[in-house]
Amino acid sequence: MSALPVTLTAAEPPLLQLSRAVKHYPTAGGVVHALDGVDLAVGHGETLGLVGESGCGKSTVARVALRLVPLDSGQLHFDGQDLSHAGGAALRDLRARLQMVFQDPYASLNPRATIGRVLREPLIVQGRAGSAAEQREQVAWALARVGLSPDMAERHPHEFSGGQRQRIGIARALMLRPAMIVCDEAVSALDVSVRAQVLNLLLGLREEFGVAYLFISHDLGVVRHMADRIAVMYLGQVVEQGPRDRVWGTPLHPYTRALMAAMPVARPQAVRAPRTLLQGDPPNPIDPPAGCRFHPRCPLATAQCRTEAPLLRDAGDGHQVACHLA
Ligand code: SF4
Repeated sequence: MSALPVTLTAAEPPLLQLSRAVKHYPTAGGVVHALDGVDLAVGHGETLGLVGESGCGKSTVARVALRLVPLDSGQLHFDGQDLSHAGGAALRDLRARLQMVFQDPYASLNPRATIGRVLREPLIVQGRAGSAAEQREQVAWALARVGLSPDMAERHPHEFSGGQRQRIGIARALMLRPAMIVCDEAVSALDVSVRAQVLNLLLGLREEFGVAYLFISHDLGVVRHMADRIAVMYLGQVVEQGPRDRVWGTPLHPYTRALMAAMPVARPQAVRAPRTLLQGDPPNPIDPPAGCRFHPRCPLATAQCRTEAPLLRDAGDGHQVACHLA
């Protein structure tokens, strides 16, 4: 891996930084290599789009960033503070400043609680509830921010559409005025037209509050719409990352090119890239291939690729790639 994660400017350290992050899960069938030396950084007010196939480790990145699971090794920094092993007040503070929006808004909302109660809960957990009038004011503020009426606070989740429930999920994330929101497949379950509305809402909130996003999705098109920078994961590792227009316009890793080739819509910006068709399924993360993990599916693989793991190296202008041939 590269000596250091990508830093966004020399003057300002990233808001969120994972350095050589390793997370393995022991299972009955063996050890799942969910993350193997991941280096990622998200700047203040920046959106990092994280893409890759299902099972590549994207959601584990979200879990370790929020410290829902501890790292096996490596480091997690938030706003310059090493929180890799933090507990107590430091961890509570991280979870106030780093919020999450889930894929399935219905599953993440207590069906028996009114929306007002759902939205008050983060304030109560963080000891910031204030008076009943202050809580009502905060709830009304958050609902208005996501385009819902304050009088909806008395309703229950089943009374809302899927798009409205996702707006409620975003309102809940806003209650503590976070510096960053992790969106884990946050629009994947929504219809296309509703998806566009929610994406535009997220962009508007970034404009209004300067909130940063770690935007996780299997959909490269959505990530391209949202992100300032894109990171591509394959089997527990980052294989390419860089400014959106660099990764989109000049994808260097065969896996990134394959993801783009698999997109259903014509992409004029991508036609310069050689088209690579993705063969087969991802290998078993319990027993990742030696050398480059992508080599069993890579049409360009050489003998070197089967034995030697490529390092993530600089390709200029903040663009990094892990491929012997790039
Ligand atoms: Fe393909 Fe080799 Fe590059 Fe891996 S290192 S992506 S196998 S060419």
